[in-house]
Amino acid sequence: MEPILQVRDLHTSFLTSNGEVKAVRGVSFQVEKGKTLGIVGESGSGKSVTSLSILKLLGSTGRVTSGSILLDGEELIHKSKKEMRAVRGGRIAMIFQDPMTSLNPLLPLGDQVGEMIWAHDKKITKQQRQEKVLELFRLVRIPEPEKRLKAYPHEFSGGMRQRVMIAMALACKPELLIADEPTTALDVSIQDQILKLMRSLQQEMGMSIMFITHDLGVVAELCDRVVVMYGGLIMEEADIIDIFQSPMHPYTLGLMASIPDMNQDKRKLLKPIPGSPPDMIHPPQGCPFAPRCPYAMRVCTQELPPYAQTGANRRSMCWLLHPEAPAEGNPFKQGKEEAK
Ligand code: SF4
Repeated sequence: MEPILQVRDLHTSFLTSNGEVKAVRGVSFQVEKGKTLGIVGESGSGKSVTSLSILKLLGSTGRVTSGSILLDGEELIHKSKKEMRAVRGGRIAMIFQDPMTSLNPLLPLGDQVGEMIWAHDKKITKQQRQEKVLELFRLVRIPEPEKRLKAYPHEFSGGMRQRVMIAMALACKPELLIADEPTTALDVSIQDQILKLMRSLQQEMGMSIMFITHDLGVVAELCDRVVVMYGGLIMEEADIIDIFQSPMHPYTLGLMASIPDMNQDKRKLLKPIPGSPPDMIHPPQGCPFAPRCPYAMRVCTQELPPYAQTGANRRSMCWLLHPEAPAEGNPFKQGKEEAK
């Protein structure tokens, strides 16, 4: 499968008054054409900074210190601000958690989507633009779209506003859609509707999606493949079926234990991972998850583990997967030892 996006050994830092925050520390992955890649992790894991690095939206304090970002084979790292403006909203579209911050409260929603269409096609007539907006409203399943063209953002619910954001993102027929926690602020039932919408749009349009979330359960709904991030590094990468059938990293195990089970009493089920993310000004020299990991060994605090191939197309960064790691109490070796 051909990649639409290839990120290679990406390092991104922010300069703060306390020092350099090394938010992303050597991340490599790719998004294949027509597929959805989930990037999962807690806040501070580096997942959103990775997407902002791709889009060159790091603000005045952030910068990509090294690495490569190829969009359909074309390097983005050296593009100017002007060139990147053309890429954003053209070849790459974005949707974020809170649509209210991206929408103009004083402009009817139909006009805002129309402006997006016009920005990419200045020759389009007013009539054609109106028809295109209606088409997009229908595409994202906004009921009675003709009546909604003149509505303002505050007249729409959170879920409907997110549909408008998706319509705006699709207006320029992007090659890649980057969605950063687009359903986090929504009720569970609305969240489910938006995920279903994104899934069906992806199938209809063959779009590639990079979906950033803290919720592994959401990834299961939508993604083909997943990258699990922690401490600015990829802890595990695998196809969605593989990661749910056999997670191969203690952090992934922790994220899975924190997915609520709708069939049972939620109060008993949400098991957050104890502890807090590492200090990224002085990242640990060993595994960043070591202070929170129930399986941590001495080597974990001393040296960063190498990646281990854990299957045909998957990898994990954990000392438990090293050929010489002890089998006793090792969740990734127990089954194999018993089978011997
Ligand atoms: Fe836990 Fe060590 Fe594996 Fe890190 S390397 S996840 S601390 S066992």
